[in-house]
Amino acid sequence: MAHKIKILPENLCNKIAAGEVVERPASVVKELLENSLDAGATRILLDVEAGGRKLIRVVDDGLGMGRDDAFLCVERHATSKISSDEDLFNLNTLGFRGEALPSIASVSRVCLRTRSEEAEEGWEIHLEGGTVKRADAVGMPRGTTIEVRNLFFNTPARRKFLRRDETELGHVGDVFTRLALAHPQVHFRLTSNERVLTEVFRQNTLEERVASLLGRPLLREMQPLDCNAGEGLRLHGLLGRAEASRSTTGAIYTFINGRYIRDRVVQHGLLEGYRNLLMKGRYPVAVLFLEIDPLQVDVNVHPTKHEVRFREQSLVHDFIASAVREALRGAGESEPELQPQRLSVGMPQENIASDPFPRPSFSATESPSVSDRHRQSVQESLLSYGRTLDTARPDRSYQPAPGPFRVPEPVAAASAAEGFFSGLQLIGQYRQSYLLCQDGEDLLLIDQHAAHERIGFERLKAQAAKGRIEGQSLLFPLVLELDFREADLLQQHLGEMARLGFEIEPFGGRSFSVIAIPAVLAQADTARLVRDMVGEMVLVGKSALIEEALDEVLILMACHSVIRANQALTPAQIRALLRDLDGVDFNGHCPHGRPVFKRMSLGEIEKMFKRV
Ligand code: ADP
Ligand code: MG
Repeated sequence: MAHKIKILPENLCNKIAAGEVVERPASVVKELLENSLDAGATRILLDVEAGGRKLIRVVDDGLGMGRDDAFLCVERHATSKISSDEDLFNLNTLGFRGEALPSIASVSRVCLRTRSEEAEEGWEIHLEGGTVKRADAVGMPRGTTIEVRNLFFNTPARRKFLRRDETELGHVGDVFTRLALAHPQVHFRLTSNERVLTEVFRQNTLEERVASLLGRPLLREMQPLDCNAGEGLRLHGLLGRAEASRSTTGAIYTFINGRYIRDRVVQHGLLEGYRNLLMKGRYPVAVLFLEIDPLQVDVNVHPTKHEVRFREQSLVHDFIASAVREALRGAGESEPELQPQRLSVGMPQENIASDPFPRPSFSATESPSVSDRHRQSVQESLLSYGRTLDTARPDRSYQPAPGPFRVPEPVAAASAAEGFFSGLQLIGQYRQSYLLCQDGEDLLLIDQHAAHERIGFERLKAQAAKGRIEGQSLLFPLVLELDFREADLLQQHLGEMARLGFEIEPFGGRSFSVIAIPAVLAQADTARLVRDMVGEMVLVGKSALIEEALDEVLILMACHSVIRANQALTPAQIRALLRDLDGVDFNGHCPHGRPVFKRMSLGEIEKMFKRV
């Protein structure tokens, strides 16, 4: 049969475009909120039901539309925001493609109500699958209300990809938070199933907005940054101190010309600025706005404008890195948690030069599916786990011991009845990080930090296998304030957390009181531990997956075991550590493959010195 080329019907085009623009309820929310902001709204109310699959309603007090525009706006490529080629490269609105409304309308039931200042009455238009079903004049104040019901009612294949309501609501919350962060002067409210989740009133500064969206305690751990490089290049916002670091990139909010964008160049520049201040696998908290000449950046490379392309990406990268570095240094952050790489012995150097942006462990730019996110979170925690040692450089309190070895008091001689590790003959501790032991003729090097983590992991795992990890009450309960999404997730997972040894109670609003933590981790920094757990939940986003990802969650927890590298141990502590190591089944399944000890035979050592 010969080909017959046809121009596709309008409605099908819209559905195809919807495939790109409308992935899930959160994408609809993003487009609608952006339209309200572009219309100059000062108050935007967002209501969702069933995570947005049943209803998404956005009510704004913006410019509204007259009758003609109200009908036009749901047509493909209908936009009031650009009219010429030049406009495309000099954008000052969030939208410009004129695709969102027709795309959304093609896969849902839409009711649009709008009135402009001049119009005497407003218009209410009902659409189903993109076709106008009814239109009436209505009395209403200036502004626009858009209701999107039954998303994907006519595209079952898409509907199948939707996740649980809580997960979808989480994505909606993310979009909401990002846009609200970028527009402190606008009043935003989010309700879900008629319950107000968060409401932020008009505010004058970013600081106030951050305090009300992300929590005042977090704001106290942040410092302002404002760096102007001239020619329209400026970076400003708030940077978290190193101690406020997180185990995921979830608390990094970056905006380019007012648009939330998770860009690799920007994110890498930011991490570069924190270099040597954070352990690997730890990420800063940051709310940063990059202003750049619109001619220097192309935002039209992705239908949802999630990605951008910089003309001079290394210039932008280096500018961000140095602005962040300078700001942190100015604020006394020059006392690093860690020292530079060069102090490491025999560790591979990370080579930035060969690949400009080699750190690929960022969350993906587009919203990944839950399983992707889950896989990624596991990957990240594995990475961070695997790398803890690499980065655990001597801290500044490190005082070189008089000789290369610190010789502790002799440890009791091995007796045959002892286990393998406790039976080893201890030579000493090297760089307060490694235990040197002799086993017959062989030299054994034990990584004390890895050993401790491994012991913690095994204990947690053994307890978890029995159904519940033993908790230990804190002397003083700790009150933590979370952002609303974290708070929502934690609220849902309190039972899960209890089984993991965390006794946590709601403490009003977005605050929680931590009453007990796993006994194995009794010495850990509680706030950081709980925050990391919540960060992990935000990534996993589903209780079933916490079960599936139990090993990774336990690894994350074990990372909070307290014997670090660079810690002088007393002989008694060393003995206890070796004894505990005897309880670890090294033949068993090892979740991460990082070695705890290395053995060197006499032969190898003699060969090294060319004695044989
Ligand atoms: P774009 O935002 O790319 O222009 P949309 O499909 O999102 O495309 O919207 C089409 C047009 O509808 C916009 O250009 C704008 O003129 C109008 N519009 C959409 N939402 C609103 C709103 N909330 N208030 C006023 N006008 C709106
Ligand atoms: Mg738009």
